[in-house]
Amino acid sequence: MKKMIIMLMCIVLFTGCIQKESLQNITSMDERNRIYNIIMKQDLLSLMMAYPEYIKDVEREKDNKIYIVTKSGKRILYDDKRRKNLNEKLSNPDLQDMMQQIYPIYSIKNLMRKTLNPGRIRVYGLLKEVYGNSKEQIKSNLVGVKVGYKYYPFNRKNNAADSLQKVMKELMILMKKRKDIYSFVFPTSGTFNYRYIAGTNRLSPHAFGIAIDLKRDKKDYWKWASREDGQKRLASYPKEIVKIFEKNNFIWGGKWGHFDILHFEYRPELIIKSRYFSDKTNYKKPWYDGVPYEDPTIKSYIQIIEKGLSK
Ligand SMILES: [Zn+2]
Repeated sequence: MKKMIIMLMCIVLFTGCIQKESLQNITSMDERNRIYNIIMKQDLLSLMMAYPEYIKDVEREKDNKIYIVTKSGKRILYDDKRRKNLNEKLSNPDLQDMMQQIYPIYSIKNLMRKTLNPGRIRVYGLLKEVYGNSKEQIKSNLVGVKVGYKYYPFNRKNNAADSLQKVMKELMILMKKRKDIYSFVFPTSGTFNYRYIAGTNRLSPHAFGIAIDLKRDKKDYWKWASREDGQKRLASYPKEIVKIFEKNNFIWGGKWGHFDILHFEYRPELIIKSRYFSDKTNYKKPWYDGVPYEDPTIKSYIQIIEKGLSK
């Protein structure tokens, strides 16, 4: 009898343990899904705010996969749900991979870890939709932006060229007060250049006319310089230049582990995500908390996302 009781007690305790454990798993799975959904909605909203003329809808397909629908009717996948290493993400990214690492909008003192490269992953389907599908199309979208005394070609679509013009105006004002800034900007190394990223078959953002390289220094690029030299160059780089670019929706290659300190790239989706959604602890508030959601346009994006995902 005693044995029976002990056995029964063991069984009760054991099943209790299992139940507790599996409940914990379910809760953490639920919690993970909840957070995944919040981040997905924030990514989609950042993209819609960044490319307002080009992203028209959000759809959940029968296979439960989420797509954005572009102006031309193209569907671009949000998440392929595949586990990928950095190289796979670079060569075959989805929107989630592109948006995953939050670009630090604050100033940094040290080079980023090698694995942190927010903005180095680009979804070419989206860039082609917005800035041009071929070399000829991209070229026809280029306009001259005044940089110092010269005009440099930049893509006029999605406010890219206008944003660079604003950057240059602000930089010129700054340089009147701060003569030292001049030698970091001029001679500017270039903007549009239809080329592939060295050693890859991926187009450079310069090929779309959405990136500018300022004055070149031999410590600027991870392939030319040691991390030690890169760190020195980063520490000496005027924060004011970076701030002006970021204010106008450009990211800085100086904030990549694979640093590219002379490089600035127009990537409004990353700046918007960073501006509104970098507080990761905020999951108890509505997912769109932080954006000016009373704005009718933003409100309509939120509705499109909610509707598209609820189907
Ligand atoms: Zn560049």
